[in-house]
Amino acid sequence: MNNSLNFDKQHIWHPYASMQNPLDVELVKSAHGVYLELEDGKKLIDGMSSWWSAIHGYNVPELNQAITNQLTSMSHVMFGGLTHSPAINLAKTLVDITDKTLEHVFFSDSGSVSVEVAMKMALQYHHSLKNIKKTKFLSLKKGYHGDTFGAMSVCDPVTGMHSIFQDVLHQNLFAPSPTCKYGEECKNEDIAEFREILKTNHHNIAAVILEPIVQGAGGMNIYSPDFLKKVKKLCDEFDILLIFDEIATGFGRTGKLFAYEHAGVIPDILCVGKAITGGYMSLAATLTNKKVVQGVEADGNILMHGPTFMGNPLACSVANASLQLLLNSPWQERVDSIQKNLHVELKKCEKLEIVKEVRTLGAIGVVELNRNVDLAWMSKEFVKEGVWVRPFLNLVYIMPPFIISEDELKKLTSALYNVIVKFEQLPK
Ligand SMILES: *Cc1c(COP(=O)(O)O)cnc(C)c1O
Repeated sequence: MNNSLNFDKQHIWHPYASMQNPLDVELVKSAHGVYLELEDGKKLIDGMSSWWSAIHGYNVPELNQAITNQLTSMSHVMFGGLTHSPAINLAKTLVDITDKTLEHVFFSDSGSVSVEVAMKMALQYHHSLKNIKKTKFLSLKKGYHGDTFGAMSVCDPVTGMHSIFQDVLHQNLFAPSPTCKYGEECKNEDIAEFREILKTNHHNIAAVILEPIVQGAGGMNIYSPDFLKKVKKLCDEFDILLIFDEIATGFGRTGKLFAYEHAGVIPDILCVGKAITGGYMSLAATLTNKKVVQGVEADGNILMHGPTFMGNPLACSVANASLQLLLNSPWQERVDSIQKNLHVELKKCEKLEIVKEVRTLGAIGVVELNRNVDLAWMSKEFVKEGVWVRPFLNLVYIMPPFIISEDELKKLTSALYNVIVKFEQLPK
């Protein structure tokens, strides 16, 4: 085995992986456009956008330039008592492209932290307003909000991958994952349990937190915008803040710039991350409205958070370049075209016995199987097919860079079909 791969195997943890018995990993030498190039020269079409983030693909001249330029003036300064134009410009853009009520921006270094900040905002809001019993969150089963402790406490207790921590986590409430599908109406019975939980527990609930329209890493569920409208109504009725986690869905992935636009429902607090820098650096932001700010600061309090790398200029400058690139591109047509192709091509999988359901929205395609995949086997098969796809549990899914060509997308969806057919034929 390659020396560096051997070192990797012995010393480096990978996400959700064993240190002592790790699965093989691929050594990536470089990445260009939609392609990841491996050490042996093999090129893979990236179906994952490096977990939702690389929407423009890799090695993008405009983004490279933005970082290089920023590097020569300043790579970082602390944000306490100081500010700079990369952060100011980025905040301007974020305020501009989100709903007009979302006008205050808190920068942090990762999606999970932006969720922690959102939760603190909600808790401090009620604390300052003397609603001292409002300390719990209501979220959805199949939800995923990150890996830090606050975020873990609102992830699905089972599929959220954090069941080991159950006893030490803040005990929150969970409503069923929405079953009304995108494009269908949400009946009263679809929201009945959610309503029941709110009705019984609203005195103790600070906020509802959920991923609008598409639940990502907790189950790749795509649901009706109607559900959000009903949630919003209930939150208003019971004086509960609404937090949308758009870390995966933000910046065009679902066909709208933000997924909440499908429903026209505006949250009190919005978390964005992942694609914000086009996948170049780790950065996230929590946006909120005047009501939350005034609530938090009632009684002379202030928001208690301040990461060392808050508003990092390199990350902000590449985010500015990435957002300009996105907004000046025909992103909507690109995502619509990906959606059409995913819909047509992945539908073919539905005829296979092993396939339970195919779901597509925007530049997201999900094939849910009747049984869990063999990750080690399937990863190797995808590499053989010349694509990079990383399934989890029984979900084989893709969210390619928006710049993928029709031919490349065809190759990706064919690979999905071929590998699933092969998997079906394997002995169980
Ligand atoms: C990835 C993700 C997070 C966590 O973001 P990190 O940058 O990995 O900390 C939170 N919520 C959602 C919906 C995500 O997809």
